[in-house]
Amino acid sequence: MNLHIYNTLEGQKVPFEPLDKAHVRMYVCGPTVYDRAHIGNARPIIVFDVLYRLLRRLYPRVTYVRNITDVDDKIIKAAEECGEEIGTLTERMINCFHEDIRGLDVLPPDEEPRATEHIEEMKKLIEKLLATNHAYRADGHVLFHVPSYPDYGKLSHRDREEMIAGARVEVASYKKDPADFVLWKPSTPDLPGWESPWGRGRPGWHLECSAMSQRYLGETFDIHGGGLDLVFPHHENEIAQSECAYPGKPFVRYWIHNGYLTVDGEKMSKSLGNFITIREALDQARGKGEAVRFNMLGTHYRQPADWTDAGLQGAIHIMDRLYIALRDAEDVESLSSSASPNGVLEALMDDLNTPLALRRLQRIASQLNKANSVDRKRELKNALLSSGELLGLLQKEPDDWLKGKITYEVEMEAVAAATPGLGARKTEQEEEITLGIKFALEMDAELIRGEPWINQKIAKRIEARKRKDFAAADAIRDELAEKGIILEDRPDGTTDWRRA
Ligand SMILES: [Zn+2]
Repeated sequence: MNLHIYNTLEGQKVPFEPLDKAHVRMYVCGPTVYDRAHIGNARPIIVFDVLYRLLRRLYPRVTYVRNITDVDDKIIKAAEECGEEIGTLTERMINCFHEDIRGLDVLPPDEEPRATEHIEEMKKLIEKLLATNHAYRADGHVLFHVPSYPDYGKLSHRDREEMIAGARVEVASYKKDPADFVLWKPSTPDLPGWESPWGRGRPGWHLECSAMSQRYLGETFDIHGGGLDLVFPHHENEIAQSECAYPGKPFVRYWIHNGYLTVDGEKMSKSLGNFITIREALDQARGKGEAVRFNMLGTHYRQPADWTDAGLQGAIHIMDRLYIALRDAEDVESLSSSASPNGVLEALMDDLNTPLALRRLQRIASQLNKANSVDRKRELKNALLSSGELLGLLQKEPDDWLKGKITYEVEMEAVAAATPGLGARKTEQEEEITLGIKFALEMDAELIRGEPWINQKIAKRIEARKRKDFAAADAIRDELAEKGIILEDRPDGTTDWRRA
């Protein structure tokens, strides 16, 4: 079976055929770094991480580029509000972003270009568009002239009138056409800006992605991804800029978009109180980022997803079962990850059918639990690890997962670096997040320190059972259960434990 993927451009599921079978190229729009990333931002990060893992399994080389937008009006506004230098704010938010997604076991992209480091490429692109009359200067701005590109609207499949009505932007008087959009805008001396033939200014957001994707992936590349909310106008504008700058060359061959994410059935918003950052989701999962992934991948990427705490807790429970299956097969030697992934790979080849892939993963685990022969166990354990790797799951030591030895140390370091000293000005939310992580760290340390105590209790319970004092044995089991420690008696008479 070949990889099939839904291409927004064609409005259907199609076979994926890269331009160069030896090298697949993919670009995904990354974060605008003005605030902590929320759980909705995590969806494309996780979805395209799975696609990246799948492509790496199928092709010898994949280049995955995910940009960082570090110059933007939202950033300027946020810096003003929290009284911080723009560069300090963006640096801090980039650190937070990296730390958050590391918690989700997301592989780093091959390139992570920052907009402010690619201003020259953007200026060159504007020059090309001006020279070919696809752009014009007006009132200190450079604008893209939409009527100069007849294919405008081919991605969102909407006509011009619909798009103008949908954009709902205030039409500036200097625009020749209401759909025209900004390539370069003037900056006052107090705002970030770069010298240019059109005066000191800064680039428009859409331009960044056209310039950076071309720089790293060429004029035509295979896959461009992002959230559904980016189809119009962002991606439509990227296509217009790139295809006018490099005429006769299609910009992107496969456009892939993930659906929207709601929280508890409602659109996420700070005013509704259902705004969840990635950091908070990780805390809800008690640091078990794989459960956040599992919960996210439980919905097909093109469907709307609803985030609930019940879903997350269910995902933790399933992940525990999967790790228990691996722990119980600890003595079985596993081979390389090239083993047949038992249907999980096939599910992903069908337009990234992750809900089916996760069900198959669970099926492999239950087969492993029931397997009798060592050969069969080895085959299933390999399948579980290899399939898990495709989904970004099950790559930790089972015991570390089950005993909650997932420390926040690495993350704590990043936070310390991101929020220097107590005197540094932080938003109230940032203060709370730092406090929350400190709290979690202390909790974790206490739980880990608690291990000898747990082992002592287990030893006492074994003694009680030996002298047939089952009431005492049960009392110890209950006492531990109250503290979230679940005992598991093994057929050989030993007892192991895990955290609930
Ligand atoms: Zn973009």
